[in-house]
Amino acid sequence: MIRLPRLRNSPGLFRIYYLAVMNLSPRNAAKFHKLRQFSRLIRESAFHSITGEPQHYVPAPSGELGVTFIGHSSFLIQIGGRNVLIDPVFSNRLVLLRRFRHPGLRLADLPPIDLVLLTHAHMDHLDRTSLRKIVRQQQRMYQRSPVAVVPVRVDDLVNDLGFRSVETTEIWHTLRHSGIEITRTPSRHWGARMFNDTDRGFGGYVLRAGAHSLYHSGDTAYFSGFREIGLRLSPDIALLPIGAYHPDSFRTVHTSPEDALRAFQDLGSRTMIPMHFGTFRLSYEPMHEPEQRLREAAARAGLAARVRVLSEGETTFFQPAVKRRASLQVHAG
Ligand SMILES: [Zn+2]
Ligand SMILES: [Zn+2]
Repeated sequence: MIRLPRLRNSPGLFRIYYLAVMNLSPRNAAKFHKLRQFSRLIRESAFHSITGEPQHYVPAPSGELGVTFIGHSSFLIQIGGRNVLIDPVFSNRLVLLRRFRHPGLRLADLPPIDLVLLTHAHMDHLDRTSLRKIVRQQQRMYQRSPVAVVPVRVDDLVNDLGFRSVETTEIWHTLRHSGIEITRTPSRHWGARMFNDTDRGFGGYVLRAGAHSLYHSGDTAYFSGFREIGLRLSPDIALLPIGAYHPDSFRTVHTSPEDALRAFQDLGSRTMIPMHFGTFRLSYEPMHEPEQRLREAAARAGLAARVRVLSEGETTFFQPAVKRRASLQVHAG
């Protein structure tokens, strides 16, 4: 069993873990020194079996958009005939945190990947070990490596991993790559991986190809930006985070299930797919609670049919969106 005194003897690692993996902003971390609670999280994370079975990659039917949930905030997106990974994390352990569920796809089974998008530098989103292995697998299987897209001032973390190129993006800036438009979106979060690198960019992405569009928010608290993203980019599918919201102070950097549902309404998207729950123990709510609260909130709001909860390895397909702008919902709350 990992005991607190040993962690106290390792302040460097402890602080890195506490700030970077726990997704606590330095301001909050200074206020929030509940180390005993925190050591409980690590103990719970360290000694449990990892559940779930990886599934097989399923190619999308021609003209359809495919979304495969790998786990946590990791997705394989099939859009415009291309394969895109977002925040791919396949490691069983992030520093001291052990995952609760296996990745839904085996890294060795990945199809040819055109793009790898990274939303920010936190370790549960940018895992250098996974990225290095993905590049090697792609080179071995398909004799090419993907292009990485990262926020500004995050490129130094991936430049040495063998990507074909690394492109950086500013908020609202649109890149065109492999026939896909990639627009970076704002979020309410922060980007430091360690302590002093607070100038790193962070945010989400909207991908568009033909009549398909999809938004991955990265990590974020609820903020007015969702409405603006909806107005500017009207994404059809919204991948939104629902975990790491307890205690309440975490909601300055993370959405609760109810916050995420409100964001979904602000965006005016057709379908919401939840993420950032069930895989890594980053906060103090019970592991099963985010999904349950989301289902309850969606039922209360009459949105249950538009919220699609994917299990790890599950793939869902979407037909192209028809003219949807006319039916944009306006959030009243
Ligand atoms: Zn996160
Ligand atoms: Zn984060």
